[in-house]
Amino acid sequence: MLKIKEYVKAESLEQAYELNQKRTNCILGGMLWLKMSNRNVQKAIDLSGLGLNQIEETEEEFRIGCMTTLRELECHERLNQWCEGAVKDAVSDIVGVQFRNLATIGGSIFGRYGFSDVLTVFLAMDSYVELYKGGIVPLQEFAQMKRDNDILVRVIVKKDQRNMIYLAHRNSKTDFPVLTCAVSVNAENGYVCIGARPQKAVRLELTEVVREKVWSGVCTEEEMKKEAECIASQVKTDSNMRAGKEYRSRLAYVLIRRTLEALNTKGGDQ
Ligand SMILES: Cc1cc2nc3c(=O)[nH]c(=O)nc-3n(C[C@H](O)[C@H](O)[C@H](O)COP(=O)(O)OP(=O)(O)OC[C@H]3O[C@@H](n4cnc5c(N)ncnc54)[C@H](O)[C@@H]3O)c2cc1C
Repeated sequence: MLKIKEYVKAESLEQAYELNQKRTNCILGGMLWLKMSNRNVQKAIDLSGLGLNQIEETEEEFRIGCMTTLRELECHERLNQWCEGAVKDAVSDIVGVQFRNLATIGGSIFGRYGFSDVLTVFLAMDSYVELYKGGIVPLQEFAQMKRDNDILVRVIVKKDQRNMIYLAHRNSKTDFPVLTCAVSVNAENGYVCIGARPQKAVRLELTEVVREKVWSGVCTEEEMKKEAECIASQVKTDSNMRAGKEYRSRLAYVLIRRTLEALNTKGGDQ
């Protein structure tokens, strides 16, 4: 059971950061993961008074405050227009609407959970985290960093021109995913992100030739199959109660192939 001795509504990020340096204190997101833990928390630090529950859009980027909920991500028209619904597709099977009204992007990304749909989809974009002390770090780098006592203030997504698809497989609706897959292409790069392997999401790159062809919508079925096979073979999978290692590897191939086919159909329209 989670036990909290004292609740502090932070008045500034500096105050929250200072409090969070003590190991027994703890930042609160939506508390959905936290409440499942067996932990004695001295001071629970609430960031909800700091105006970090907003998605701001500028010419170049989306700036998503850490207290933004998964439901707000799901329903944000401009963000989903830009990413072609990939964010909505990634979060809409996470438990239920009431749950997504509470779970935050800060808690989801800071946790770097193996099963995370949220980490998978944002890794497929040119995205960054803004850490209070650590500054702006590419999400790809942050995903590999060891957990510390910093505060994730925002997730920043560059609005480059990019086609993107998100797919995941679940044994039953609302369960944790068996495998997650987000693929994006643009004129410069092609990212394939696979999560719930069951380890946390990894990002690989499409070969130059296939990326160019998919971006232009002229890739053949055979080329996409080969590329999916080649990338899936580089993704390390393992077994857990939801699925075996071999099944996950086969799924990785199938989901990558399907995303490439869908992106190829979109290709050439830009
Ligand atoms: C039953 C259940 C099913 C789930 N299913 C899925 C699923 O299918 N797919 C999926 O992607 N996710 C799933 N999740 C995870 C969920 O979507 C959230 O990612 C998770 O609950 C964490 O978000 P939160 O806002 O609740 O964070 P909290 O539980 O409040 O915090 C999580 C951790 O992050 C820290 N933290 C929170 N915010 C910050 C911050 N801004 N800076 C620094 N540290 C911070 C906290 O101290 C804590 O250690 C599931 C969770 C549960 C409990």
